[in-house]
Amino acid sequence: MGVLWFSEIGKQDIPLVGGKGANLGEMFRNEIPVPNGFVIDSKTYRDFIEKTGIKEKIEKELENLDVEDSETLSKVSQKIRKLIESTPVPEDVKKEIKAAYEQLVKFEGSKVYVAVRSSATAEDLPGASFAGQQDTFLNVDGRNLIHYVRKCWSSLYTPRAIYYRVQQGFKHENVSIAVVVQKMVNSEKSGVMFTSHPVTGEPLTIVEAVFGLGEAIVSGRVTPDTYIFDRVKRKLVDVKVGEKLMMITKKNGKTVEIELDEKKAKERVLSDEEVLKLVEIGEIIESHYASPQDVEWAIEKEKIYIVQSRPVTTIKKKAEAEGVGGVEMEGEEAEILVRGLGASPGFGTGTVKVIKGEKEISKVQEGDILVTTMTTPDMVPAMRRAAAIVTDEGGMTCHAAIVSRELGVPAVVGTKKATQILKDGMLVTVDGEKGIVYSGSVTEAKKEEKVEIAAPAPLITATEVKVNVSIPDAAERAAATGADGVGLFRIEHMVLGLDKHPMKYIREGQMDVYVEALYKEMKKVLEAFYPKPVWIRTLDAPTDEFRAMEGGEDEPIEANPMLGFRGIRRDLFEEEHLRAEFRAIKKLIDEGLTNVGIMLPLVSNVEEVRRAKRILIEEGIPLNKIEFGIMVETPASALIIEDLVKEGIDFISFGTNDLTQYTLAVDRNNENVAYLFDETHPAVMKLIEMVIKVCREHGVKTSICGQAGSYPHVVEKLVELGIDSVSANQDAVKAVRETVYRVERKIMLDKLRKL
Ligand code: PEP
Ligand code: MG
Repeated sequence: MGVLWFSEIGKQDIPLVGGKGANLGEMFRNEIPVPNGFVIDSKTYRDFIEKTGIKEKIEKELENLDVEDSETLSKVSQKIRKLIESTPVPEDVKKEIKAAYEQLVKFEGSKVYVAVRSSATAEDLPGASFAGQQDTFLNVDGRNLIHYVRKCWSSLYTPRAIYYRVQQGFKHENVSIAVVVQKMVNSEKSGVMFTSHPVTGEPLTIVEAVFGLGEAIVSGRVTPDTYIFDRVKRKLVDVKVGEKLMMITKKNGKTVEIELDEKKAKERVLSDEEVLKLVEIGEIIESHYASPQDVEWAIEKEKIYIVQSRPVTTIKKKAEAEGVGGVEMEGEEAEILVRGLGASPGFGTGTVKVIKGEKEISKVQEGDILVTTMTTPDMVPAMRRAAAIVTDEGGMTCHAAIVSRELGVPAVVGTKKATQILKDGMLVTVDGEKGIVYSGSVTEAKKEEKVEIAAPAPLITATEVKVNVSIPDAAERAAATGADGVGLFRIEHMVLGLDKHPMKYIREGQMDVYVEALYKEMKKVLEAFYPKPVWIRTLDAPTDEFRAMEGGEDEPIEANPMLGFRGIRRDLFEEEHLRAEFRAIKKLIDEGLTNVGIMLPLVSNVEEVRRAKRILIEEGIPLNKIEFGIMVETPASALIIEDLVKEGIDFISFGTNDLTQYTLAVDRNNENVAYLFDETHPAVMKLIEMVIKVCREHGVKTSICGQAGSYPHVVEKLVELGIDSVSANQDAVKAVRETVYRVERKIMLDKLRKL
């Protein structure tokens, strides 16, 4: 090992070349236009510290270090970095790196400057991003390559990198570092691109562009142009030309900043054709990775290069927060103080603390609103404490935007003047979705915003487009999407919101109280959607999640809760609980709310369906009046679908979150393997295809309610396979309906053309 060319690297090589290196190799192999290069693998770094004997010294320095003590942290960091940078690199390693560089020059046919990038081996794993933690050096002359490689290695120990690892629970010794050496594109234009909207997940590609090198955007010191391209309508729907007061470029091999005159600063960076080309490349990357991507690109002599791509992890977070939202002051209209880009969704109310630099971060207390020109990695501890973040500068991919989304803190960026208008001590509310800072404390949902959300999509589709609901109080908002019903009413959130653990009610002889609570909450959803169907899923309570409830101390401790006491198997064991759920539903049916359906989670045996059905009948539920079905979310249920269908079910719904987890043996909650979590894996698709086929033959309806049902690229395939309905998260209903509409029309057109 030692040096690996991009052509030799694939996505499975993360442990060896880090997320950044693996990504580049994967793209290069798949003919995505990345500039050529090689990676000095993480083993080389490990060998270096081991063979030179500095490993023990580093570990000693880090022993018992209190990372909250900024002064000591900075001293230790300096000491370790000096040690690494002053230790000679063994001759054979030097030789190999130099030979690789010379080979690169040969490939390119002329002298090349290179970008030397750190690629920490846990970097870019979804949920555990160390992006921006380690150093990158641009425009490096080949003669200085070794020097900068060593500098990348030492950047594994910057104060912020050390701090992050401790915060995220990573052991220092488990994190290693590879170094990417890549031909430097002499960018005339560059920027970033989200292949789908990073907050809502809609099929809108957002491109941010500046003149020169893209570092200007990430630093947040330039407001880039923003182009929004609608991938369904295939057109550019919005262009905002930013004020690009400077550009970063290469002059005689040196990176320099050049001020731009007013005319150039306001000039549009990209033509329509260039945006379209970028969108098309983005679509190739997105379909290759089967998930929306955050891409860095550059243009040199009219050729587009892709320099980086990572999955957008925030869409899921946002989608899971379904039902949360809407704002309005009670009484009067709230005063808007500043506007910017909504970079991280959610609302935060608190006291303004304007900070000028990292030295002032102690000013920000828990729940304050952090206001600054642009955040830096050193401000992260304060960002964690903040209720919201507001910056003057930056776009959707600046430091403040990326970190806030990861931390789940609402943020508004690029306001231009927040630090001037907002003053220390002011009470404000930040809307991180719309990009607005209001004066005072703002709560509830705005009426007119409801109207906006309420406008139902005008498209009629043969495949029904439903919505997932978890929070009964948000059911009206979900119904206002115009969805054709609820394909999954997840009752876990609602039950977790009750005063005590369900089994505690039952053990204490308060079954009636529990039934009444269930009935009341379920009713809200059924009424909001009446007469459209609402499929209520019986409780799927993993022990680890329910332990925190009052009375939850009796939950068994399980090594693998995902494989344990949950789903219908649990409800059949705690039969009284299942009866309570059915009693609540019976009460609703008796009141005429016959738009209810019942769905069983985590089925893997015929016997489970048979027993649940028997209890259902015993509780007096009229099966001729309502729909009864099961989730297909274990490979077992898919493989025995024929037998399950014979038990008498009206519908099945794919729970692709679990189906993917159990088919691929990838824990859906484990960020270390998140990059392998792929709902479109051929094995998962094969199971889905098979189940749809069998169900169609037997007249059983098919649906999907897992997260994949909110991804247009998955929905496209399912409609082609003949699924009857799709249940999406609230914010994806519109985009999913548009996709369904387009695919259905295409199928019809194709048929007509064949006539
Ligand atoms: C699923 O597994 O896809 C599903 C919808 O159920 P949950 O996410 O609640 O496990
Ligand atoms: Mg599930």
